[in-house]
Amino acid sequence: MKHVVVTSDPHQLFDSRPTFSHVASVMGSSRIIMTSGQVGVDEFGRTPEDVQEQMTVAYASLRRCLEAAGATVKDIIKLVYYIVDYDPQNRKHVEPLVAFLKGHRPATTLVPVPCLARPHFKFEVEAYVAIPQQPTKEVDVVVVGAGLSGLKTAYDLQKSGFSVAVVEARDRVGGKTWSVEQTAGDGKFVDRGAAWINDTNQSEVFALSQALGLKLVVQNTTGNIVQQDQNASISQFPYGSVPAGLAIAGGVDDMVALRDATEAACQALDIRDPVRTGGHLDTMTFEQWIKSVGGGATALASATVWTRAMLGMEPRDCSALFFLNYCKSGGGLLQMRSDQKNGGQYLRFERGTQSLSIGLAALLKEDTLLLSSPVRSITQTDGGNARVVSARGDFVAKHVVVSVPTPLYKEIHFEPPLPAAKAALANLNKLGFINKVIVRYDRPWWRESGLCGMLQSFVQAGPVSVTRDSSVDAKGQFSLTCFCAGEAGKAYSKLTKDARFKAVVEQVKATLGAGLPASSIPSPIGFEEHEWSNDQWAQGCPCPAAPPGAMTQYENALRTAHGKVHFVGTETAYEWKGYMDGALRSGIRGAEEVTRVLSTPKL
Ligand SMILES: Cc1cc2nc3c(=O)[nH]c(=O)nc-3n(C[C@H](O)[C@H](O)[C@H](O)COP(=O)(O)OP(=O)(O)OC[C@H]3O[C@@H](n4cnc5c(N)ncnc54)[C@H](O)[C@@H]3O)c2cc1C
Repeated sequence: MKHVVVTSDPHQLFDSRPTFSHVASVMGSSRIIMTSGQVGVDEFGRTPEDVQEQMTVAYASLRRCLEAAGATVKDIIKLVYYIVDYDPQNRKHVEPLVAFLKGHRPATTLVPVPCLARPHFKFEVEAYVAIPQQPTKEVDVVVVGAGLSGLKTAYDLQKSGFSVAVVEARDRVGGKTWSVEQTAGDGKFVDRGAAWINDTNQSEVFALSQALGLKLVVQNTTGNIVQQDQNASISQFPYGSVPAGLAIAGGVDDMVALRDATEAACQALDIRDPVRTGGHLDTMTFEQWIKSVGGGATALASATVWTRAMLGMEPRDCSALFFLNYCKSGGGLLQMRSDQKNGGQYLRFERGTQSLSIGLAALLKEDTLLLSSPVRSITQTDGGNARVVSARGDFVAKHVVVSVPTPLYKEIHFEPPLPAAKAALANLNKLGFINKVIVRYDRPWWRESGLCGMLQSFVQAGPVSVTRDSSVDAKGQFSLTCFCAGEAGKAYSKLTKDARFKAVVEQVKATLGAGLPASSIPSPIGFEEHEWSNDQWAQGCPCPAAPPGAMTQYENALRTAHGKVHFVGTETAYEWKGYMDGALRSGIRGAEEVTRVLSTPKL
């Protein structure tokens, strides 16, 4: 990535390494950004006592400001920091500063102060930033976002002969597909985001995987599932069946009855017209619907596992119509929940699902992609073109395709503003909370006691609701993927990183390791996680969900264009909404929509 900030140390001035340069100059065309002073307050409003910890938190907030502006640490021209009770003999600010700057040396000024805005604040930092600008580019279509839906739109449009620019906020392609190796080059990938597909009814994503020659792994379903009941008792049952008994009398029947009622209700919906075929279901939450069909405490606990794993929320957080239509879009609850042939979780990727996005991006023409460049405004002029303003350059385009989730529309200034119905939908839709914690082991020890690696937990506080075996045996990658989601996930996110990983490992030991001698359960060799709700360019996952009433009023605005601006993204798909297959399908629809308008002769 090109940078415009050049630093220098004039002859005979004292040596300012490693913390700053005496002079920082901005070369070439750039956009200037300034931040407010950032103090040591985390997202839960907590301020650490220790001044160095306060500095670390303040720098984390500054990093978020930079990310939101599309800047990096290397784009900083100048830092000003304010320190209460500064002691020149004990320069506590140096270590966190060096860790933040990672070798970059902007100009800086240290200002000792008697106090800051609150008595307990000991440190504040503000930044002046210059982001390099590319010259304004003219194209037929700008695609906002390089997730699977945006990349597929761009690829199809280029195949049809149109010039396209894809403008992405992150420094990588793939959006919610994000795969990481254990150690660079060892091929032991795990997925922080999407992981599973199938090779039958998810035809678009499977076709892409085949076209790119990606190796797939069949999900392990050999062995027993572990059930952790509401009272934390542990039992096992073979994959594909149901528990023999549960803590609450009649619990198994309660659970099975709800499963069957949910399947029947979702199958009655038309995914192309859910409001007409199930409007009454939009007057209540999914939890209220469960109670209306006679579901008891065990049924609700079971449904909580579904909504946490599928949407990162509780059954009370979304409309019954939304949840049932979501299930139907993936062929039904049973198909969506299944890890076997035709099910939602049948296959994984040896090199992770980001290999789909990286492969698709590589098929785009050179210079199509602009990374680290969030789009902040889209302006349409009467009968003319659209102007797209992004952090690293502007674009003039005949059409724009926005591929970001509806709750993120608020991050973009639309001129003229979005129609009221579209804006209301974007405002009402909510993203769920899922933190997938992937625990790496040196061997798949759970298989040794006849387990398939799946845990289903009815314990409200979790933190883990579901686990799955996410190993790739051929690569010696052995892991359990643990879903910390919904309210349990939110509570869990308040812990420190060490406490989070410890809580997950303890629950894994107490469930998949129940009854085993401690010596037969190896210690983890690594952890991966990503807090998608804290992520500026996701703000939650996997797919926005609607509360009661929203679909009835605004579902018809979900896919409609706003003048020259079109909308794709997995939530706009009819089939496999919320999944990678849905993202690709929405991209196909978006490209067809734009191709149709661009190919229609003007009178
Ligand atoms: C933890 C988790 C588990 C999942 N599991 C599965 C699974 O097993 N199987 C499955 O099929 N699916 C799964 N999914 C869902 C799947 O990842 C998504 O459905 C799919 O990747 C969405 O693609 P998209 O293009 O619609 O959106 P995104 O991937 O969100 O892409 C949108 C892009 O827009 C960018 N962007 C946002 N704002 C701006 C802006 N202002 N300017 C420029 N760019 C911007 C974002 O950075 C992002 O790259 C999972 C998701 C998560 C997070």
